[in-house]
Amino acid sequence: MSTIKKLLVMTSGGDSPGMNAAIRAVVRASLSQKIVPYAAELGYRGILEENIYELTSTSVGNIIQRGGTILKSARYPEFTDPEVRQKAASILKQHGIDALVVLGGDGSFRGGKLLEEEWGIKVIGIPCTIDNDIHGSDYTIGFDTARNTALEAIDRIRDTAFSHNRNFLVEVMGRDTGFLAMDVGIAGGAELVLIPEYPIEIPQLIEILRTRNSKKMGSIIVVAEGQKPGRSFEIAEKIQGALDMEYRVCILGHTQRGGTPSLLDRKYASLMGVRAVEALREGLSGKMLAIQHGDMVLADFPNPALGPRHFHDNDLMKSNEILCRG
Ligand code: ADP
Repeated sequence: MSTIKKLLVMTSGGDSPGMNAAIRAVVRASLSQKIVPYAAELGYRGILEENIYELTSTSVGNIIQRGGTILKSARYPEFTDPEVRQKAASILKQHGIDALVVLGGDGSFRGGKLLEEEWGIKVIGIPCTIDNDIHGSDYTIGFDTARNTALEAIDRIRDTAFSHNRNFLVEVMGRDTGFLAMDVGIAGGAELVLIPEYPIEIPQLIEILRTRNSKKMGSIIVVAEGQKPGRSFEIAEKIQGALDMEYRVCILGHTQRGGTPSLLDRKYASLMGVRAVEALREGLSGKMLAIQHGDMVLADFPNPALGPRHFHDNDLMKSNEILCRG
């Protein structure tokens, strides 16, 4: 067993529902092992600005059900500078902090990995993003809440779509990946799901709608935001120009990032938080908690060269096509 006395938990990059449950778990697990938990606010910026303080069991009381992150999150590009990381390491050492638990995505893990390689600070990651796009894990904290939030919105839109025989394009987040859109589209009974990994060109889309939609009004097309949030307006304009059909656009945007975390997010976040502290005690470092085929495991940090994980599931696409055809 390794002798960690103090660890620091932080949230970095984009926030996601369930981060608070993970913070709570890290703190409670640390205290149970006589490790003193510290926090830095606003990600790596907080370390450099010495916005560092001790957490107690009560400081994480009543937060498991709250979205966002009580530690606040930020992007801090300065951390790519080795001198800035050196300063961070010396600040951590001054505070007697031996290890970090980083809640975030690939970028945040990259920063942590460099701190480990360069300065020997132990780092364990917990993958948190609503996009579910981190290589090495089938699941990331926040994804389940976001897909349920988007689904609820679609159900509401469907009510009015049906009542007025209106067609909608509903744009969901996911950056340039389609995990969120696919799940939401299938569960929301979408007429079509447009995702970056399986692109449909506009003429093809128009043809699909022309041949399919003659009897069907009040339908919903789910669009992944892709690299161009707001792209649904452009799609709607092009479809409307070619077909005698009106399409309304609804962009769900940041509503998907907030809100009460779902059961699944809270459960995985809690278990990952406990496991992160155990891993550090076991002397492990440079790894992240991951879900692989339903099991919680410790996996290597993603290879930065790979970029984000993408959605690829031909069987699911085929099933969805059958569902959409009706
Ligand atoms: P995410 O963690 O959600 O992928 P970012 O890519 O924005 O989000 O990264 C979050 C933060 O992690 C950055 O603002 C920066 O502080 C740190 N970071 C990202 N990439 C690197 C890198 N290559 N080297 C050092 N730090 C990094």
